[in-house]
Amino acid sequence: MSAPDVVNAVANTLALPCMARRLTSVCGSQDVLEAMEWAQKAGLPLMPLGEGSNVVLPRVLEAVVLKVADSSLSILADAEDSVTLRVGAGKVWHALVSEAVHSGYYGLENLALIPGLVGAAPVQNIGAYGKELGDYVVAIHGFDLITGAAQTLDSKECGFSYRSSVFKQELQDRFLITAVDLKLSRAPVVNIDYPVLKSRIGCGEVSPTTVFEAVVALRQERLPNPAHSPNAGSFFKNPILSTQLLRQLQSAEPEIPVYPVSDELSKVSAAWLIERAGLRGYAQGNVAMSDQHALVLVTDGHAVQGQVLELARYVQTVVLERFGVALEPEPRFYD
Ligand SMILES: Cc1cc2nc3c(=O)[nH]c(=O)nc-3n(C[C@H](O)[C@H](O)[C@H](O)COP(=O)(O)OP(=O)(O)OC[C@H]3O[C@@H](n4cnc5c(N)ncnc54)[C@H](O)[C@@H]3O)c2cc1C
Repeated sequence: MSAPDVVNAVANTLALPCMARRLTSVCGSQDVLEAMEWAQKAGLPLMPLGEGSNVVLPRVLEAVVLKVADSSLSILADAEDSVTLRVGAGKVWHALVSEAVHSGYYGLENLALIPGLVGAAPVQNIGAYGKELGDYVVAIHGFDLITGAAQTLDSKECGFSYRSSVFKQELQDRFLITAVDLKLSRAPVVNIDYPVLKSRIGCGEVSPTTVFEAVVALRQERLPNPAHSPNAGSFFKNPILSTQLLRQLQSAEPEIPVYPVSDELSKVSAAWLIERAGLRGYAQGNVAMSDQHALVLVTDGHAVQGQVLELARYVQTVVLERFGVALEPEPRFYD
C-alpha cells in the first residue's frame, strides 16, 4: 500500500504545525484492530495521543494517531468510606476532577485544571501541589498495540514514579489506555502541605472544595494560558540530586528551594534554576521562556518544533554550565 496523503492536523497546546498520516478515533476493540491493520499495511507506527498538551510535534508525524473517544464515567463500587470510578480515557481531566469533588468523591482536588484527557494522565503520572495521580489508580484498561489484545494492569504494574510510569517507558506507543479505575475517598480529607497552597488558603476550616477552588485560582494566576500564550506547562522536570551534588549546589546557592525525596535524594526547583540563570523571559525568535513563569516555554503561535528544541537545549546548556545540574524535558519530543 502506498503512503496516504498527509491530511490530518494534530492539535497541540504549543500551537506547532503538525499533520499526521492518519488520525483515528477509537471506540472499541474493532476500531483498534482496524487501525492496527491499516498501519501495518501502510508501514506506519501507531501513536496514542490526547489533547497534545505534553508533546512537541514535528511538521509531519509519520504515524497513525489514535485518540480514544470514550468519555463515560461509572461507579464500580460504592462503600461507606470510598468510591471506585471507571473513567473513559476520552474524558477531559479537569471535568472529572470537578465532577468528583462536587459529587463528594475526594482526593483529586490538588490536580484541578491540569489540561488533557484522562487517558494521558497515568502516562506521566500527573502531579501538582503535593499530589500525584498514581496514589488513586486501582487499574488501567487498554489494548496491547502489538497483539491487539485487551489488557488490564493493576496499580503496581503501572510503575508510577515522579512524572513517569510504564506507559512512558517500555509500554510507550505499545499500550492504548482506554479506561482508568480510580479509588477516591468519601471522607473530606485534604492535603495542603504544599507551601504556596497553604499560604493561599490560610487558617480556618478547609474543605476539599476550598482546596479545589484555591488550586484553580492559583493556576489561573501563575501559569500562562495556552489559549493566549501557547505552551506545554512545565517544560523541565524538577531535577533530583544526590546529597553530594545538592551540597555543592547549596554552597554556591544557599537559597535554592529543596524538597527531600529520600535520605539520599532531594528535588530542587527547575524554575528557580532557570530564573537564577537569568533566563526568565529569554526569547529566541518565535519562542521564549515565559516572563510569567520561568519554567514554561511559550510560543507566539507561529513556531516550529526545531525552534522549541533549540531553546530547550540552550536552557539546558546554560543551567548545566552555571549550576552543574542537568535539566530533563517533561514533554515528549516526536521525530
Ligand atoms: C498549561 C499546562 C499546565 C500543565 N500542568 C501540569 C501539571 O501541573 N502537572 C502535570 O503532571 N502535567 C501538567 N501539564 C502537562 C499535561 O497537561 C499532562 O501531561 C496531560 O496529562 C497530557 O494530556 P494530553 O491529553 O494532552 O496528552 P498528550 O499530550 O496528547 O499526550 C501525552 C503523552 O501521553 C500519551 N498518551 C495520550 N493518551 C494516551 C492513551 N489513551 N493511551 C496511551 N498513551 C497515551 C501520548 O502518547 C504522549 O506520550 C500541563 C500542561 C499545560 C499545557
